[in-house]
Amino acid sequence: MKCSRCKEPAQIALPSHHAGFCEPCFLDFFRRQLERGIRKQKLFDHSDSILLAISGGKDSLGLARELKALGYNVTGLHVDLGIPESSRKARAVVEAFCTKHDVPLEVVALEDEGIPIPDVKRRIRRPVCSVCGKVKRYYFNKLARDRGFTVLATGHNLDDEVARLFANTLRWDAAYLSDQGPFLPAEDGFARKVKPLWRLSEYETAAYCFFTGIEYHMAPCPYSEGASFTRHKKLLADLEDASPGQKLSFYQSFLESGRPAFATSEAEHGIALSPCTQCGYPTSAHLCGVCRVRDALGSPDSAHSRESGA
Ligand code: SF4
Ligand code: ZN
Repeated sequence: MKCSRCKEPAQIALPSHHAGFCEPCFLDFFRRQLERGIRKQKLFDHSDSILLAISGGKDSLGLARELKALGYNVTGLHVDLGIPESSRKARAVVEAFCTKHDVPLEVVALEDEGIPIPDVKRRIRRPVCSVCGKVKRYYFNKLARDRGFTVLATGHNLDDEVARLFANTLRWDAAYLSDQGPFLPAEDGFARKVKPLWRLSEYETAAYCFFTGIEYHMAPCPYSEGASFTRHKKLLADLEDASPGQKLSFYQSFLESGRPAFATSEAEHGIALSPCTQCGYPTSAHLCGVCRVRDALGSPDSAHSRESGA
């Protein structure tokens, strides 16, 4: 197979783009897809200060390297989940990467915040991934707001976005469907949120890291087994194999036609938010979900307590 651009031998095949590339042309393709995604959805520009959530996986590290190379003002944020089997390694990978690539780094350790994820798993009667996701989003937003960043970026790729869209569609969850996309504007108490990798697949970000020599944290989270998210990704990978390009076209069609319809219907049923009485985070209740989890973990009487709501 020859490179679709320069006709040298191809090193990677991308059936979803009906193309194959040599290494330099693939890296150029990757950059163009990223820039196109940023431009098309008007995510940010060079005047923005970007806080990028960096987990240590291929997506966030690849994105950090490429944003830095494109001259964006980017700072990393790593949330150390406190999971003995994996968090120490992930944090070490992120710290080494940021030193090597001269990316300023902020670290929030959930152990220090009184919400280590192993305690959540042991003591809170809710799916651990749902609470973990909520806690991470809380600290991403808090740091972005407290430190005056204009944009909060995450490394969600096309596969993540399509799997989430699929799950939201299975439930016809209008609230989540109206909010899903690579761009969420800043609102009272919430930073602008962006997902610059929305046009690039997991395979493409892995290839990017391979070609650029990025060493990323590969071990899956020990709590991820059986998560519905993983099952949906497998189903969607089969669909993509049978019809290359299906994922990107499904997601793009949603952004063009689906999301606007849900956004309109949700606006009619908007939920009023007010600051959490403990931490000031926007919430529909009097205490936000993270403060409730923290309180539940801090109180010996509330072992096995049920944390619920927003
Ligand atoms: Fe958190 Fe692990 Fe679940 Fe991911 S898989 S949301 S890191 S508990
Ligand atoms: Zn709170």
